[in-house]
Amino acid sequence: NRQWVLAERPKGEPTKDTLNLIEEAIPVASGNQMLLRTEFLSLDPYMRGRMSDAPSYAVPVEIGEVMVGSTVAQVVDSNIDGFTPGDYVLSFNGWQDYALSDGAGLTNLGKSPLHPSWALGILGMPGFTAWAGLKQIGEPKAGETIAVAAATGPVGATVGQIGKLMGCRVVGIAGGAEKCAYAVDELGFDACIDHKAGDFADQLAKASPDGIDVYFESVGGKVFDAVIPLLNPKARIPLCGLVSQYNATGLPAGPDRMNWLMGQILRKKIKLQGFIIFDDFGYLYPDFAKEMGGWVESGKIKYREENIEGLENALHAFIGLLNGENFGKRVIHVGQQ
Ligand code: NDP
Repeated sequence: NRQWVLAERPKGEPTKDTLNLIEEAIPVASGNQMLLRTEFLSLDPYMRGRMSDAPSYAVPVEIGEVMVGSTVAQVVDSNIDGFTPGDYVLSFNGWQDYALSDGAGLTNLGKSPLHPSWALGILGMPGFTAWAGLKQIGEPKAGETIAVAAATGPVGATVGQIGKLMGCRVVGIAGGAEKCAYAVDELGFDACIDHKAGDFADQLAKASPDGIDVYFESVGGKVFDAVIPLLNPKARIPLCGLVSQYNATGLPAGPDRMNWLMGQILRKKIKLQGFIIFDDFGYLYPDFAKEMGGWVESGKIKYREENIEGLENALHAFIGLLNGENFGKRVIHVGQQ
């Protein structure tokens, strides 16, 4: 049973020394347990926070512990009613080949789900984050302009597509021409601006001639800087993530602009609300599952996944995720050992 365990807390960007790949015996299910074999491991930006012991909404992974993570696994052996060998389950095995479970909090996906790994993306946590954050906090109305950061990732791509279904103008912000072309040509966004372009702020302003009514924030940094002046009175900002800051070791140097920002929020009567998806909106999950399931099945919402073969490549793939090397939802295909 290969396991990625936390070796040291990263200072800045995680490195090859942050996690160790070790091997242990495959555990045996006893009593009220089942043995799960990881088929897919989800890589998500929040994992950077779990590597750190800074105060957060969730407890950190301890040194020597297996990295946490959502997985789609297959039941190998089960002593639990409702789970039989061969069932696919949405589980929390973390970064390892095998794990034991008592079944608590797991979802049985059945013997032959159409796309097992999609439970880690569009039909799971990231899709739910987009759906609830946009609708509950963004409250977009037809005809309004939505700007969305990290526009081709599982959250951002879904936010933008829901915005189009709700009759809004959608402006994506993504890293590079290829991602931007995809957002417009495949996802149907009205525009998508490359945040690496020298004149990024100007391009964003031109693409938002009526200002921005909803800004779905996932990155922070210079993207947020460029968005603030474009916000309309009574704009709403679902504050979902700040991925450009996850590897930061301190606050940026420069003038303190806190009071300037507070003034913008005050004068424009902006609503800025952070949220942690299951803490805040867990009660809406059944509504999400029904609506998103329908949209995906009918082709109204598209989903792009990037499968990387082999658990041994997980650390490298995770470091790349924080740098925007992913194009779509990054999932490790752990596969049969
Ligand atoms: P993504 O697949 O979108 O990956 C993160 C993306 O962020 C990268 O691909 C990259 O895209 C972009 N990025 C990285 N660094 C920068 C930078 N310096 N400036 C601008 N963009 C950058 O991830 P997800 O869709 O899974 O998650 C999106 C966000 O939502 C994250 O912030 C995550 O933490 C948050 N989240 C929050 C939840 C909550 O409950 N609050 C739940 C789930 C996710 P590009 O190449 O386009 O720049």
